[in-house]
Amino acid sequence: MPAVKVMDSMDKEIKTWTLWRDERINEEESKLLRKAAAELPIPLDERAKRDVEVLVDAFLRRNDAVGLAAPQIGISRRVIVFKNRNFNDRTPLKKDSGEYDVLINPRITQCRGEEEQENEACLSCPEISADVTRWTEIKVRAFDREGRKISKRYKGFLARVVQHELDHLDGKLIIDRGESLYYPSEKKAFFDGIFGEKVLYDE
Ligand SMILES: [Zn+2]
Repeated sequence: MPAVKVMDSMDKEIKTWTLWRDERINEEESKLLRKAAAELPIPLDERAKRDVEVLVDAFLRRNDAVGLAAPQIGISRRVIVFKNRNFNDRTPLKKDSGEYDVLINPRITQCRGEEEQENEACLSCPEISADVTRWTEIKVRAFDREGRKISKRYKGFLARVVQHELDHLDGKLIIDRGESLYYPSEKKAFFDGIFGEKVLYDE
């Protein structure tokens, strides 16, 4: 029995912050998720480095997310992490696998190609999905984990993932962008209550 307990604490996932849970609004979590996150200082100080590592560790421990933004684990700072390949592979990623990107203080500097609509889900908006229109090609300026300037180009699904995660840094979620929202019919009363009155907007 004690051995199991140790395993539990080691494997414990960092909680993902959500707008609602079990048909109840999370007021505190919503407030942070809805807020524009703060930039990290460059060069990165100790606290910034630690925040980045906490986010990366939280992301690597899950196998159900393509990307994660710091506000989603309660850290209101501008850093995102996401898979850069093998999106459907559920095997947890290794720390130095090169299969994921970390962007600090990211900024989209160019949008190209066409706009495309696709269905998206978000860990912070459980049980719903939304049709969201995004650019198919973007250029991003950011800093890497060492605080060095980087510039990257993303296309297709990856461009969508980056735009989704970047939105989190501005307190924007798929329910704001979604042209159509989909949720389970048995929860219709709860979700109609939210989206009818826009109680989640904190502006
Ligand atoms: Zn999300």
